[in-house]
Amino acid sequence: MTDLNSDFSLELTPDTLPMAFAQLQLAAPLARAVAEMGYESMTPIQAQAIPVVLQGRDVMGAAQTGTGKTAAFALPLLQRMLKHENASMSPARHPVRALVLLPTRELADQVAQAIKDYAKYTQLRSAVVFGGIDMKPQTLELKKGVEVLVATPGRLLDHIEAKNAVLNQVEYVVLDEADRMLDIGFLPDLQRILSYLPKQRTTLLFSATFSSEIKRLASSYLQDPVTIEVARSNAAASTVEQHFYSVEGDDKRHALHQILKSRQLKQAFVFVNSKLGCARLARSLEHEGLKTTALHGDKSQDERLKALESFKNGEVDLLVCTDVAARGLDIKDVPAVFNFDIPFNAEDYIHRIGRTGRAGALGLAVSFVARSDARLVADLEKLLKSKIELEAVEFDEDVPDIRKQGRINDGHRMYAQEVPDDTRRGHRSGSLRDVAREGQFARPERPSPRDYGRPAAAPRDPFFERPYEPAAAAEAAPSWEAAPGHHGARSISANIKSKRKVAALFQSA
Ligand code: AMP
Repeated sequence: MTDLNSDFSLELTPDTLPMAFAQLQLAAPLARAVAEMGYESMTPIQAQAIPVVLQGRDVMGAAQTGTGKTAAFALPLLQRMLKHENASMSPARHPVRALVLLPTRELADQVAQAIKDYAKYTQLRSAVVFGGIDMKPQTLELKKGVEVLVATPGRLLDHIEAKNAVLNQVEYVVLDEADRMLDIGFLPDLQRILSYLPKQRTTLLFSATFSSEIKRLASSYLQDPVTIEVARSNAAASTVEQHFYSVEGDDKRHALHQILKSRQLKQAFVFVNSKLGCARLARSLEHEGLKTTALHGDKSQDERLKALESFKNGEVDLLVCTDVAARGLDIKDVPAVFNFDIPFNAEDYIHRIGRTGRAGALGLAVSFVARSDARLVADLEKLLKSKIELEAVEFDEDVPDIRKQGRINDGHRMYAQEVPDDTRRGHRSGSLRDVAREGQFARPERPSPRDYGRPAAAPRDPFFERPYEPAAAAEAAPSWEAAPGHHGARSISANIKSKRKVAALFQSA
């Protein structure tokens, strides 16, 4: 079979972006799959990474979530592996040639599904292995032979030790979401896995951020890598309109109701920092008439699937979730993301708002900033390399006092934070630095790294095999339209000015 890459070369200049997939001369089976998925133009990471990977170079890619980075590495790897494709039933003819490592089962499943889609007209086989479920079905699949193996590090090591996975013919390794893998503490596992691989290989490392740890990892395992940054490193998705509102305690729920309604949002993700806060908020919002479900790490896998399913099919309008539970979910076109709490880890902000405005769709990210969040916001400013301007929420007079309602319904106070009265209603935008000077920081604890990537036992997620269909949800009016006491709330758009309009994803960085 001919080497499809031998005479492939492509000059890329900013003027040539965005580039159509047709210009790439992908092999017919890959081009067909890509066309079926509706991709026409390459995203910036694809336009830059695909030619480099096709040339066999190592890559260090700074790519934020939702930029199309899966296709950026998967398509050229599949193209390079086509020379090995064969219809033989012998497992020996299907050794693992590409290994893709990811931090969580959800991400692994999602990436594996994308790879299956891209490879569906080829004879290359792919499989995914992750923890929390029975090893047997995974073992059977591995024993049959797969060319592309997508895995989380811990479970892969189990399979290596059980001699189910033989990695001595691996030619390509992808360390995806490398920063997350290090956060979780996977470095020793990664080092062990990499020690089993041939030295002669192509290694691709993708990370939302290039911390010093990531640079160290790259210098140990990558050879003369090409660095690709599609956007300023640590930049937030450029298709997301971002707002930061100064709002305290129970007023956050009030503000949430008002923004949902005035913006006529159909569905939204609401992020909170703790499992307990997540469950409480979901319960309160439900009591307040909003169709809500919670997604957090204490839920069983079955409950998590049900929560996601009900959001996807439009049975619920709000998905209240923690970072761990929502990490990497590729639910496209969620109209808005609310940061009910400012994340403890600034980088989580990027991941959270990556749920909206994905692959070209315009999204809205609203963050509620309490006075005690000053230091977290300062971290965020550092990461985003820009000053965050706080906006005030002007509450409508005819919107009932959610705080009272919540207390009656719940029998307890949520977010029991005592704050001076002047910050409660329609309070002014404040400088966080002023708050900092007043010494009102409350440094919250970081979530335990043990929380990450520890899925509960369950069968393969059918949820991830079906795309999100906002149409189902769009037909019915969202619950806030009918929520008791929220009729006729005036639009707040006059009071809330957009601070950041952002360019389309497909613009070159
Ligand atoms: P990823 O960042 O790889 O998780 O991709 C985010 C989403 O964008 C996925 O749903 C992809 O199917 C989609 N996507 C990737 N590349 C393109 C493209 N060139 N055009 C349109 N959608 C894309």
